[in-house]
Amino acid sequence: MKHEKTYLLSADECNQLFAKLEERYDLYAPVRIPAGGRYAQTDSILYRQIHKYEDIEYRERSTYAMKEVLTPITQTLFYFTEDEYQESKPPEKDILLFGRACDINAIKIQDQIYLKNGSDEDYFYKRIRKRVKFVLMECTQQFEGCFCCSVGANTTDMHSLAISFRKDCAYLEIRDPEFEPYFKDSKSSDYEIQFPKENELKVKYPVIDSIDLANRLKEHPMWNEFDDRCIGCGSCTVACSTCTCFETTDIVYTQNAHVGERRRTCSSCMVDGFDSMAGGHCFRQTTSEKYRYKIMHKVYGYNARFHTGPMCVGCGRCSARCPQLISYPATLNKLSKAIEEIKQEEGKTDD
Ligand code: SF4
Ligand code: SF4
Repeated sequence: MKHEKTYLLSADECNQLFAKLEERYDLYAPVRIPAGGRYAQTDSILYRQIHKYEDIEYRERSTYAMKEVLTPITQTLFYFTEDEYQESKPPEKDILLFGRACDINAIKIQDQIYLKNGSDEDYFYKRIRKRVKFVLMECTQQFEGCFCCSVGANTTDMHSLAISFRKDCAYLEIRDPEFEPYFKDSKSSDYEIQFPKENELKVKYPVIDSIDLANRLKEHPMWNEFDDRCIGCGSCTVACSTCTCFETTDIVYTQNAHVGERRRTCSSCMVDGFDSMAGGHCFRQTTSEKYRYKIMHKVYGYNARFHTGPMCVGCGRCSARCPQLISYPATLNKLSKAIEEIKQEEGKTDD
C-alpha cells in the first residue's frame, strides 16, 4: 500500500473532510478533558470520538494509550438470562484511529496477544479490530520520557493516512488509494511526513538471550528496592500501550442471579489478587516480585514466546503515570547493567 500524495488543508477544510469521512467512519483521536486529570486542576488526554479538527489534542502525549478504543477499561461482552445470551453491540461503522508511530506499533503487539496467541482468536477484539484503519499523527516534537527509537517503534507502514498538524492547518498524506476521492479538490503539497529519528532519552534495551540468564536475573538484588518504592497500584500497566491483561466478571442483576452481563475489565500483574489461585496460592507475594515479573515479561517472556521483539514501544506512559516516580527506562538500564555483571562473572568462572 505505498501510494503517497500529500495535501495541505486549512482547519475548515479538515472539518469538511472529517464530515465526509464520518459518513463511513467513526473518528477517534486524543481529546483534552479539562480538569479530568489525576491531580486538582490538571487535565487528562483521552481517546474519544471526534468530529472536528479542533477536537484533537496533538500537542501532548495522550494520558492513556490508543488501546482504549479497541479494549476499553471496562467492556460488556454479552448479556445473559437462564438459557440465552445476547452479544453486546459491535461497532456500527468502520473506525479511523489517530495515533503516533509508537501507538500503531503497539496495536501490532495487541494483535499478537489477542489474535495470534494459540489456536483461538479473541472474538470481541477481532470484531472491532477488523474495522479499524489508522491515521498516523506525525511527531513534530518529542515528549518527556519517549524512547521509541531505542525499541524500533519510531516508524510504521500500517497507516492509511498520515497527518501533520499545524496551527490552523494540516498536511495530510495518503497511503491507501481508497482515500484519494476525499481529496480531489484539495491543494497538493511537497511536504513529507517525518518519523522521529532520535530521542533525547536513550535506553539500552536489555537483551536476555537464554532462560539461564533470565533465571539468574530473577535472583539479582536490583529488584529489592521496589518493595519500598512500588505500591502495586497497576497504573503503569493500565496506561501501557502494550499490556493486555484483563479479568472477566459476571454482574448479576438484582433478584435473579441467572440474569446479568459478562464484563471484561482491564487488570494488571501489578495488583494484589491477579495471580491468586483457587486454594489461596499466589505466585508473586511482594511488590518487588510483581514488578520483576512485569519487567521480565516485557523484556524476555514475550519475545521468548513470539520472537517479535520486546513488548514495549517506548511511549513513556508507564513512567508518566507512576505515582511513585518509578522510571521504566531507569529500570531497563539497571537490568542491562545486571546482565553485564552476570556475563562478566561467567567470563571469570570460565577462565
Ligand atoms: S512499558 Fe512503558 S514505555 Fe513500554 S509500551 Fe508500556 S507504557 Fe509504553
Ligand atoms: S511501578 Fe508505579 S505505577 Fe506501576 S504498580 Fe508500581 S507504583 Fe504503581
